[in-house]
Amino acid sequence: MELENLWEKTLAEVELQISRPNFATWLKNSKLIGKEDGTAVVSLPNNFAKEWVQNKYHKIVLGSLRNLDESIKKVDYVINLSQVPVGISRRGGQESAQMSFVEFKTDPETNLNPNYTFKSFVVGSSNEMAYAAAMAVIKELGKKYNPLFIYGGVGVGKTHLIQAVGNEIKSSSNNKLKVRYIHSEKFLNEVVAAIREKRAETIKNKYRSVDVLIIDDVQFIGGKHATEEEFFHTFNSLYEDNKQIIISSDRSPRFIPTLEERLRSRFEAGMMIDVGYPDYELRVAVLKTKLQQRKTTLNEDVIDLIANKVQRGLRELEGILNKILFYQDVKNINITPKLVEDIINEIIQQPSKNINPNQVIRAVADFYEISVTDLIGRSRKQEVVEPRQIACYLLRNMLSLSYPYIGEKLGKRDHTTAIHAFEKISNEMNNNQSLNQKVLLIKEGINTA
Ligand code: ADP
Ligand code: MG
Repeated sequence: MELENLWEKTLAEVELQISRPNFATWLKNSKLIGKEDGTAVVSLPNNFAKEWVQNKYHKIVLGSLRNLDESIKKVDYVINLSQVPVGISRRGGQESAQMSFVEFKTDPETNLNPNYTFKSFVVGSSNEMAYAAAMAVIKELGKKYNPLFIYGGVGVGKTHLIQAVGNEIKSSSNNKLKVRYIHSEKFLNEVVAAIREKRAETIKNKYRSVDVLIIDDVQFIGGKHATEEEFFHTFNSLYEDNKQIIISSDRSPRFIPTLEERLRSRFEAGMMIDVGYPDYELRVAVLKTKLQQRKTTLNEDVIDLIANKVQRGLRELEGILNKILFYQDVKNINITPKLVEDIINEIIQQPSKNINPNQVIRAVADFYEISVTDLIGRSRKQEVVEPRQIACYLLRNMLSLSYPYIGEKLGKRDHTTAIHAFEKISNEMNNNQSLNQKVLLIKEGINTA
């Protein structure tokens, strides 16, 4: 049988076994490009589709192929590099046509995200002071500016900057210096748990033995007495040992109304620097850096349009970029100014259609081809854990439902489970392109249903 003919028949069989939207999404642009020594070579338009088909539909594909041609024992999946969308110039030859899905896992030792480095951090007028202070801290750890207190609005790059300091210290000391990053809400949870389980000592030991403590979004501990107390002691003991403390907050200590006076004065005794909202140049430069990291490009006009339209924090910029790249690199759609504007409006305004929770749950189940019963059931099997967490994320992100409600809806789970799932997916979406695109595909399914 001819390859084309064989593949057409195979697809006809596959189509019967998976849902129509999934078939259209994953296999529409597939081809059988070779067959040799029992190995069939199937090409897919991008890495995302390749991974998905490999993980999810391999059995069905292989089974269907074998029904038609018994000699086939194995399937290899490859990316079809010729299917680069038109109208987009790509730098760097063939390799860049693949979307890169390198997953950046948080380092369990330091809690740092290896993606947040100085290499990927662009310095502009709104953050140059903070950057300079960070550099000075690295040079003279624990001596010059202690604590370093970085504050500023949402999405201006505080987390990126303080984590870059941590990553830099870790690598330049050849992992000798112990760095520990923690979000203040996590710290708060740890303190609460430790008190409940009567083991407050473990917190002390955990944080007092580090060389560099980085605490993010410290404003959350204001007014939480036990946590402030614990943090105060940790702070003092590190400070006395000349260990470096780096803190971020969404505002200056003066404007955290519930912060205890003694902590406030400790914070103010170090170096306080604000990071402002990025100007146009910085927005363009950050967009270009993100594109480089993903080994892809966009037209200059498109970059200019995004940077002009989005004037707030850089987090939004990233969401918009993700969506545009999803259209360009996964769906192979040509990016027009109109499309960019639609995407921006959608992300900035989040139009509320009449979507109900069951539709969201159904859409996630359909996407993963699992049953709703499994999705909202008790099983902790890997196949249902990610879909369930994504359902949780979407119920919160699209419908702004309360955590107790979401927990209840997803199999009578505790609200803390829902919070955890939401945070996990939100955080991972920043670093894991494949997850990002799954979420976008599901959202798209919901919005167009
Ligand atoms: P914040 O903690 O201030 O809310 P983040 O550090 O989470 O902001 O930044 C939001 C996004 O913008 C992240 O993806 C981050 O990598 C990116 N970003 C922010 N500032 C810069 C910068 N100067 N250079 C490159 N990327 C940046
Ligand atoms: Mg942050």
